[in-house]
Amino acid sequence: MDERHAASAADGPEAEHEVDIAIVGGGLVGASLGAALAPLIQREGLSVAVIEAAAVRERAAEPWQPSFDARASAIAQGSARHFADLGLWPAMAEQAAPIRCIHVSERGRFGVTRLRGEELGVEALGHVIPNAWMGRVLHRRLAELPLGWHCPARVAAIDPSPTGYRLRLSDGGRLRARLTVLADGGRSGLKERLGIDSDHRPYDQVALIASVEMSEPHRGVAWERFTAEGPIALLPLRGQAMELIWTHAAGREKRRLALPDGDFLAELQRAFGDRAGRFRRVGSRHAYPLSLVTARETVRPGLAVLGNAAHALHPVAGQGFNLALRGVMDLVAALEAGLGADESPGSSRVLADFEARRAADRHNVVRFSDGLVRLFGIDSALLSHARAAGLVGLNLAGPLRRGLARRAMGLER
Ligand SMILES: Cc1cc2nc3c(=O)[nH]c(=O)nc-3n(C[C@H](O)[C@H](O)[C@H](O)COP(=O)(O)OP(=O)(O)OC[C@H]3O[C@@H](n4cnc5c(N)ncnc54)[C@H](O)[C@@H]3O)c2cc1C
Repeated sequence: MDERHAASAADGPEAEHEVDIAIVGGGLVGASLGAALAPLIQREGLSVAVIEAAAVRERAAEPWQPSFDARASAIAQGSARHFADLGLWPAMAEQAAPIRCIHVSERGRFGVTRLRGEELGVEALGHVIPNAWMGRVLHRRLAELPLGWHCPARVAAIDPSPTGYRLRLSDGGRLRARLTVLADGGRSGLKERLGIDSDHRPYDQVALIASVEMSEPHRGVAWERFTAEGPIALLPLRGQAMELIWTHAAGREKRRLALPDGDFLAELQRAFGDRAGRFRRVGSRHAYPLSLVTARETVRPGLAVLGNAAHALHPVAGQGFNLALRGVMDLVAALEAGLGADESPGSSRVLADFEARRAADRHNVVRFSDGLVRLFGIDSALLSHARAAGLVGLNLAGPLRRGLARRAMGLER
């Protein structure tokens, strides 16, 4: 690991290292990109550096202890296939719980829709995997690759150069990259420093996340229940636990975050009802303010923006990481095509190819997720009826429902 960069450490902290690709951020998206670049690193000798602000590698080396509190993500079938293509699915699957059925309903209304894997000829509509486990599998893969691993180190400054971008790291390191990929989650201010504007639409909602233990086996059912206060999602985890994503009007979550466990569970039971059984136990609760943030530019010569830095979505449809992973795969495909044509990784042609592969999918998923929030997020009598009708309609209208399912599974763009 880190051979190229270790070899040049004698140059002193100020020496500037040249790399083909610098990935800013080794979170789920940046680490996935590093892993997906493996064939190009190994076969084409592409030099890659990953810069990650948080000290993650040390944690990855510790024995895995499944935590009741871990955050988890719904991974679409399409994403599972991508992980399989990268040789990572067997390891991911060790902690994955299959979603066999998605049950969508509205509290106090008649409408209900169920999406079953078997109707679509698949064993699972998707899987739920703890984020910490995905991170660990990805970081283990990175550790096997001859890439520059700068961690913990922050990219403190980024400036355009004639051949790409120059990066200054918080540990004194300096890099010059032909292609810089911003996968920093969009909160580091680097995008803004480069003058890349984003459209922000605050939803005035906060997602309260926690693991909950149920009285009944979940049998692989994922629940999406729309209540007057906002959607409640329950995703199956391994064992009898489920991941709760409870959306609140901003500010209303504070009281629930502070409630004793027993009172919290009682309120959750009242809001969700008994369909999934009794809520027995809750892990630590976390709050995530929700907004739709989309970068107005996702490529410039020498620069690509991926993951939450490019698009932060409402988690209601569980699409953010799935969309980002398709972006990772498309970027690697564009880079591979570019290398075959002797193009620099940061060339306008390579990045235009990437953007052409991405634009429609990104637009559709942003519209789909935002549409769901608008359809189900507001409490008005008229909308409630429309929503109930929509849910019943969804149940009756096979092709529409199958279309929704295929999109949710990441099999359709
Ligand atoms: C409540 C909630 C539930 C969700 N559920 C789902 C789901 O079920 N399915 C799904 O597909 N998606 C889901 N998402 C979306 C998903 O979590 C995101 O799409 C994903 O985490 C984005 O990953 P990322 O790597 O782009 O950003 P991040 O996870 O934010 O990672 C960015 C990384 O960059 C590092 N970094 C930041 N600044 C710097 C810097 N200056 N220098 C170096 N490193 C830096 C950070 O330390 C971090 O590790 C959910 C999101 C939320 C909020």
